[in-house]
Amino acid sequence: MPAKVVYLSLGSNLGDREKFLNDALELLAQHQIQVIARSSVYETEPQDVANQPWFLNMVVACETRYFPLQLLTVLQRIERDLGRVRGGSAVRRGPRSIDLDILLFGNAILEMAQLTIPHPRMLERRFVLEPLLEIAPDLKFPLTNKPLRNYLAAASGQKLHKRSS
Ligand code: AMP
Repeated sequence: MPAKVVYLSLGSNLGDREKFLNDALELLAQHQIQVIARSSVYETEPQDVANQPWFLNMVVACETRYFPLQLLTVLQRIERDLGRVRGGSAVRRGPRSIDLDILLFGNAILEMAQLTIPHPRMLERRFVLEPLLEIAPDLKFPLTNKPLRNYLAAASGQKLHKRSS
């Protein structure tokens, strides 16, 4: 597989959130996923479940030779290695030490049981669009071929602020 540029969303709202983001970046590199651009870190209000701590979120552009499902498997392995608990007692959309999502995979459009690309909720999420546009202001949304910046105004009124660059 030739190298593709993919955009990933990273989020953490449990424990040492900054360290989880940094550890995830290190593990991406160790798994041959080269980070070529990274956004600032944003502190963001939880969207789906109330009464949980605020998140730290960021978006990175990476180069990878993995196929999409292989990439998902590697990301889930990294989530597990960083202590994320899935299923069982874990609250869906509840607090998590680290959450890694594939936003875009080149211009691919994919709909499989385990994986949808572009990420199905990315346009509604200010915590995704703001950092993504920071590193890729002219990127287009593969399903419509319209600039992603066109979607920002319609994203939620979620509270968020930039924490560091
Ligand atoms: P979450 O618990 O929010 O991280 O959701 C993870 C689940 O979403 C996993 O079981 C994945 O199989 C599925 N999924 C579907 N599309 C994507 C995507 N683009 N990136 C990451 N996970 C995805």
